[in-house]
Amino acid sequence: MDFANKIRLIKDFPKPGVNFRDITTLLQDGQAFKAAVDAMTQACADMEIDLIACPEARGFVLGAPLAYNMGKGLVLFRKPGKLPGKTIKHSYQLEYGMDSLEMHEGAILPGQKVLLVDDVLATGGTVAAGVELIKQSGGQVAGVAFLMELLGLGGREKLRDHRVISLIKCD
Ligand code: 5GP
Repeated sequence: MDFANKIRLIKDFPKPGVNFRDITTLLQDGQAFKAAVDAMTQACADMEIDLIACPEARGFVLGAPLAYNMGKGLVLFRKPGKLPGKTIKHSYQLEYGMDSLEMHEGAILPGQKVLLVDDVLATGGTVAAGVELIKQSGGQVAGVAFLMELLGLGGREKLRDHRVISLIKCD
């Protein structure tokens, strides 16, 4: 399936000069959504993992069905103040601003192998924060998987120590 065709480009969002890849058009297409999740599952099938972790909010959309398909537990990385229990936190630079991710303390145990999942790899800042949270927990990053990779923004460089999978690559 031509997944790239299912993604809509929105110019000047969220600010002038940014070309935003809108994945909601792919999600709305039931066959494309299922095929994309299944293709990501297939690409990660040989990874030895204990858990899947994903950042709010679009990471949840891909991470949850992937965890379901693989029969693995799901750890949510959330924006500050959203998780009810005791958390650990990491701050990072976004393509457009600063942000932080939190996870519940103890959600990842030392030595657990974690697959990190998000919708889009741009500069890699979000996922690098996820990598830090996994490391702070004593876990190991088994791999990082994306629906879409935006080439030329340096994201893959930031992840050079890890196995990176992306279903769609675009300039
Ligand atoms: P990064 O931290 O790699 O610069 O940006 C990736 C994060 O920002 C992802 O969590 C993703 O949801 C969001 N993001 C950045 N650019 C885009 C884009 O063009 N389309 C979508 N759907 N998300 C984006």
